[in-house]
This record gives sequence, structure tokens and C-alpha cells, in this order.
Amino acid sequence: MKKFLLAGLALAAWNAGLAQTAGGAARTTASKSGSASQSTAPKSVSAAQGMVVRWSGNCKRCSLEDRSWDPVNGTCYFPIDMEKKPGTYTISRRTTGGKLESAKLTVSEQPCKYEDFDNFPKKEYVNVSAPNQARHQREMAVVSPLLNFKKDERPAVFDLPVGKPADPLPKGEGNFGSCRSFNGQPRDRHTGMDYPVTAGKSVMSVGNGRVIVAANHFFSGNTVFIDHGNGLISEYMHLKDLAVKDNQTVTKGQKIGTVGSTGRTTGPHLHLGVRWHGARVNPGYLLMDPSDMPAVQ
Ligand SMILES: [Zn+2]
Repeated sequence: MKKFLLAGLALAAWNAGLAQTAGGAARTTASKSGSASQSTAPKSVSAAQGMVVRWSGNCKRCSLEDRSWDPVNGTCYFPIDMEKKPGTYTISRRTTGGKLESAKLTVSEQPCKYEDFDNFPKKEYVNVSAPNQARHQREMAVVSPLLNFKKDERPAVFDLPVGKPADPLPKGEGNFGSCRSFNGQPRDRHTGMDYPVTAGKSVMSVGNGRVIVAANHFFSGNTVFIDHGNGLISEYMHLKDLAVKDNQTVTKGQKIGTVGSTGRTTGPHLHLGVRWHGARVNPGYLLMDPSDMPAVQ
């Protein structure tokens, strides 16, 4: 919740910034706050790992380091991978008027929440046999290339906020990015958010898109990945069954399966993950009103 509070503060600051810079008349009132440098101060935004920041208005192209992508409805979104190195980065945008602008992005560390699963019931997922390890490797060889950043992203077919993957959608477990151990053995970090949705409930696509994975995998059980264009991929795991097939086109709110507990789970729940331009981000940022995201100002 702390993150959402921070996002709210950023919004307040953004609104304040707008009030000071909107139109020529604002310059005359700027001296009131003792700051005449408002219009020339470098633009900036701060966020923690796993968050999404935005740069609103008249964007034509967005870039961070050696990667660039299209805006969504005129706004540049910069998803920050959960393991992006903390520090200062330069982000840029080309406006529809042809102007190139830059801003400073400060990324802070999001401390890792520890989750320990003692007496994990499904032992085959803790001490993984050689055949199952090989199976996992084969599955990753197929999936990983689909998730990487691509220069030729297809146009966005989604809107923000995205739709809810279950109705009602309970509050998430707050375990996005958590560091996990199973029976004392450390494992990979958790790349999504778990929602305590009851077994058998429908799971829906969060937006229009195309199914790029609909398969049973060792760790994630029955799994669906949907490509929504603009490099946005939503991931649904541990489903009881699948209602879609590879390459199928889906619409926002369409049922893609039911909640279950297949794969490495302690019980039924919905795992939702998000990749955007290759970055693993907290799905909560796509479910929130984009105006609540930290903004360049
Ligand atoms: Zn999960």
C-alpha cells in the first residue's frame, strides 16, 4: 500500500506542477513560490523497481537507454523491471510536434519481501527430478524468447487501466517480486502477484490480444500468456483448466480458464504477471488509473 500512497503523492506534485506551468500567465504567478526556474528546471520522475511511470501528452516515441517504443494514446509509459539496477537514468520522448525531450528517471530499490514455504506439500516441486528439470528447461526455451523486448512491437490493442482478471478481484497478496524459499531452499523471485480468488472462478483476459502460450508447464501449471501489443504481455498461472488455444484472438473480459492450483502452489489462487517492453512490473500498476502513476514533471 505504501507504493500506492507514494504514487498518490506524485500525482499531487504533478497537479501542482501543471498549475504552475500551464500557459503564459502561470509565469507571472510563479514568483509567488519564489521559483522563477520552473519552466527551465530539468524534468524528472522517481520510482521504485517494479513500478510504471508515465510522461503524458503528445508523445510520438519513447525511449530508455537503447530501447524505444510507441506511446499508448499519446502517453509514454516506462515500466521499470523488478530487478533494474537502482540509480539514475535518462528517459526521452519525441513529441508529435517533433521535439525531443529528456528527463531524469531515478530508480530506487524495492526491498525484497521474504516468503518461506516450510513443509511445502508438493515435494516434487522442491527436490526437482532430472526429467522435470529437463522439462522446465524445454518450456523456458519456448517461453523466454516470447517475453524479451522486441524492436518491432505490434500496435497496442489495450487501454489503461486494463480489465480485472477475475470478478470480483480481491486485494493481492502483496508478494510481487518476493524472495522465496521452499523447505529452506532459496528459489527464483516471484515475478507476479497472487490474488486469493476461489477455485473454479473464471479467469478473464485483462485486455484484447492474442494468446501466445496456452499450455501445461511444470512450475506454473496450466498457463496462459496473452500479447496485447505495445510489448505488453499478461501471464496467468496455476489454472485448473484452459478455455483458449495458442494463437487465438481474445477480447477484454473473455474467459481464458478457471482458477486452480496446478503446478507449484500451496492452494488455489490466481497468479497474474505482466511484462511490458520486456520489464517485469507489478500488475497493480496496470489495474490502477494511469493518472495515479508517478509522472514526469
Ligand atoms: Zn504466484
